[in-house]
Amino acid sequence: MPQNLSMFSLAGKTALVTGANTGLGQGICAAYAAAGANVIGVARRSCQETADKIKAVDGNFTEIIADLSDINVIPHIVEEAGKDYSRVDILVNNAGIIKRCDSVDVTMEDWDAVVNLNEKMVFFLSQAFAKNWIRDNQGGKIINIASMLSYQGGIRVPSYTASKSAIMGLTRALANEWAKYGINVNAIAPGYMATNNTQNLRSDEQRSEEILSRIPAGRWGTPEDTTGAAIFLASDAASYVHGFTLAVDGGWLAR
Ligand code: NAD
Repeated sequence: MPQNLSMFSLAGKTALVTGANTGLGQGICAAYAAAGANVIGVARRSCQETADKIKAVDGNFTEIIADLSDINVIPHIVEEAGKDYSRVDILVNNAGIIKRCDSVDVTMEDWDAVVNLNEKMVFFLSQAFAKNWIRDNQGGKIINIASMLSYQGGIRVPSYTASKSAIMGLTRALANEWAKYGINVNAIAPGYMATNNTQNLRSDEQRSEEILSRIPAGRWGTPEDTTGAAIFLASDAASYVHGFTLAVDGGWLAR
């Protein structure tokens, strides 16, 4: 890599990505491996497809099977990550769920499921890694996955909107406390991307048409579309970027 681009390299770094078996998380894992990082994927199910993509670029991949709906799993994740690598440099809080329902019908159970994974887990997993980074004076990078619903209200997804709005706030709050330790906390706000998360929206012809007509780029995003921002925010090139949520949205927010 030419000297002036080496700041974008992730060679020698270790990244832990949650929700690594599908969609955006899988894309970020593959991109990090291609950029030189060792990748640890956390998922409820096997990450074989992700492992195969990483093998294809001669990268290193380890998986940790964990259900991230319960914060009690965090010590297990930190311990498992420490078995293969002496340090984790990059944490990507990507795992997330969405539940579509009229606000008057939302149950407490569904509310808790969304908020526990999308918000509470993000905070406490970040806290666990930041504690170690501060103790070891080593710095680190945290990249949260926000959403267009960090900026907007959305329709029939109130728990998701609450959790993703919280992610943008948390990204700023944690940056304010941890920037002085060399920890960069930033977020990516993907627009409308073709993954499992948007399967229902894309199969609803009318909603799909409404959404597409407002995306200046004229198409749904792909997991690959988020990888440039994910590499940048994880790299030395972003060392002075703190508390910012970077939209990768085909221009959606510009409308
Ligand atoms: P996806 O459904 O393919 O990915 C979600 C990931 O989270 C999966 O890997 C899933 O296994 C994991 N996950 C869910 N519950 C889990 C649990 N209890 N424990 C462990 N892992 C769990 O969809 P995606 O679009 O790739 O979503 C990734 C992130 O991007 C999510 O936070 C989502 O909210 C966000 N996002 C997606 C879009 C989009 O348009 N697709 C837009 C904005 C934000």
